[in-house]
Amino acid sequence: MNFTVHGGHAAQGNAFSGASGLCSESVEDRKIKEAVIKYLKQAGHTVYDCTVDSGPSQSAIITAIKRKINLYSNVTANISIHLNCYNGNAHGTECCIYSDNEAAKQMAQRICSKISSLGFTDRGVKKRTDLGVLKGIYNGGINILVETFFCDSQNDFNLYEKMGNSDAIGKAIAEGILNNQLAAPTENGPNLADVTYKLKQALHITPGNVTMQEVTETLKQALGIKSDNTIKKPINVDPKPSVPQSNINLNHNTKPLNQNISLGQQHANNFAGCGLNPDGIRGSKTIAGGIMCVQNALNLDYNSNLKLDGKWGPKSESALSSHYVKKGETQYLVTAVEILLMLKGYNPSGVESPGIFGNGLYNCLIQYQKDNCLAADGVAGTNTIKSLIH
Ligand SMILES: [Zn+2]
Repeated sequence: MNFTVHGGHAAQGNAFSGASGLCSESVEDRKIKEAVIKYLKQAGHTVYDCTVDSGPSQSAIITAIKRKINLYSNVTANISIHLNCYNGNAHGTECCIYSDNEAAKQMAQRICSKISSLGFTDRGVKKRTDLGVLKGIYNGGINILVETFFCDSQNDFNLYEKMGNSDAIGKAIAEGILNNQLAAPTENGPNLADVTYKLKQALHITPGNVTMQEVTETLKQALGIKSDNTIKKPINVDPKPSVPQSNINLNHNTKPLNQNISLGQQHANNFAGCGLNPDGIRGSKTIAGGIMCVQNALNLDYNSNLKLDGKWGPKSESALSSHYVKKGETQYLVTAVEILLMLKGYNPSGVESPGIFGNGLYNCLIQYQKDNCLAADGVAGTNTIKSLIH
């Protein structure tokens, strides 16, 4: 059978990299994804990795993932690997499906059962017609988004730590997909998925685009191991390995300038004197600029007396306290939230000073919260603001 598998969101270190709690979603989802692929391949199936590691917005990343997924045909299932995040108390595993299709329900339920057999609570199968990554796929496959466990749950995180790695979860997901019991890994020692992930990171190889064989080749080159068909060259001359054929035509659609980020940078300059270059790139100065906007808003709204240094320290933390802004309110903190969303590439339909929390901001905020596994309540509270400044 043919399958596509991908880790959700951008890679860690890029914008739109998903939720974070006791661990980071985009780090662990990629490890789990590698393990799922390993077990499906071990069972003799063909698997296409459709992970996308960066993009100008969350929706652009989802579009790029689907473009990859739709390159293939006769696919049995498309599996999207995520970690959930809510309030620290919610825990367990759930699978989201788009339609009531019986085969999709059954496969999703099997995945939930297999993961819960490792100790996670089975939260069951949920029908979610709002998830973009489950819509508009026409390769014949069942579409399932696996919310493997909650990255902000101590309970789930302890279980994940206790089982030592991503391997057991990847195996459980593969077993759920295939509806059978897979053989335990034969090799003792470190688990291959984790090793692959660490090697890719160490060698600065974009996760998702390369196979273990390519990692091995790169490593051989780095170590100067000669072989007849490998040209020996130092690793720092060309750290990027050749891109597999199937991915080549996917690299045209990266837009260098993100208009929302660029406008956000200009608003940040006007609001908090950030001195940002409006280049539309979310780098460390832009992230600090976003923090300056929050600091400025806290000073204006609550006389917090913060230095606009762009660093989120204990003084900023206690000034923010449990302050929040919601629809109908007019505050400088609304201005800051509007700018923060723009700096994340979103469009809140205007920035005012002081900000007026209207429908444009409300809808934009809910989209951001959904994209980032936050409680989608349309209220900019502590969790949302702290997600926006990172
Ligand atoms: Zn996610």
